[in-house]
Amino acid sequence: MVKPKIICVTGGKGGTGKTLVAVNLAIMFKNRGYKVLLIDGDVENPNTFLLLNAKLKNKSEVLYFLPKIIEDKCNKCGLCAENCGTHALLYIKDSYPIPISTVCSGCKLCYKICPTNAIEPDLKVIGWTYTASAFNIDLFLGELKPSEARSAVIVNKLMENLEEVIKTEPEKYDIVILDTAPGAHCDVEELINGADFVIPVTEPTRFGKLDLLRIIELINLLKKEYKAIVNRSSLLGYKEKFLKELEEKGVEVLGDIPLDEEIVSSYCQGIPLMEETSKFDRDGAGYKSFQQIFENLMEWGEFSK
Ligand code: SF4
Ligand code: SF4
Repeated sequence: MVKPKIICVTGGKGGTGKTLVAVNLAIMFKNRGYKVLLIDGDVENPNTFLLLNAKLKNKSEVLYFLPKIIEDKCNKCGLCAENCGTHALLYIKDSYPIPISTVCSGCKLCYKICPTNAIEPDLKVIGWTYTASAFNIDLFLGELKPSEARSAVIVNKLMENLEEVIKTEPEKYDIVILDTAPGAHCDVEELINGADFVIPVTEPTRFGKLDLLRIIELINLLKKEYKAIVNRSSLLGYKEKFLKELEEKGVEVLGDIPLDEEIVSSYCQGIPLMEETSKFDRDGAGYKSFQQIFENLMEWGEFSK
């Protein structure tokens, strides 16, 4: 079975241009005839569909398990609380256990081991998944319900959906691009862990460097190959200094993207800069930098179709 190559676009800091890179990489692969799936795993702030001007469809609820104690059936044995790994069941001898939803991981262990079947699922909607298509690219997107905290469950669902596609239609996609949330938390870790190549995106500022080094620490822990992209590289004329600093830290760089009005224009229009049918300037600085990044990427990995 030939599995698609998975590229994870990430970055320790928010607003560095991860989504810009993820969308345009997807477009460039598509332009070369690859079958591409883009997965938006930034579930608190999913906006790939805006850059692709795509209409979301197939909205599907993501449910989360919480235990509900049926007092008529409970013998107050305390077995559930004793075995709960996150101490999410408050138990006082000879009393009914009380679930603490904010601590519960949804593992269902209590439900499985209760000797009297006194625990029932209290399923809660914590977000949604969607699909979409635009510019001959398929999109899977997750959205966390406002005020919910369990973003990892939505990311997990997106990756389950990907696994299902790979299992049932292994040749449907040649390339899968994952767009992560900012940061180095468990959602990001899951997506990096599922990838063959990782591309952290940064910007030439002190914050950018610090957060890049933090995400590289995580990438190294997960033993993944990576190369960084420096976005807004012409910002305040720091490019050469910044690239030298990265070199001194042993950070390999795939390429850089300068500030370019056409990139802003592509955001506003909902047409990716690198889309082959677009009217963007082929000699523009942004366009050329993406072309160079793509050539470097093709040299880095073997991407068959
Ligand atoms: S394991 Fe079941 S019966 Fe025992 S305290 Fe928990 S809910 Fe009640
Ligand atoms: S589902 Fe898991 S984490 Fe939640 S209360 Fe039950 S055992 Fe504890």
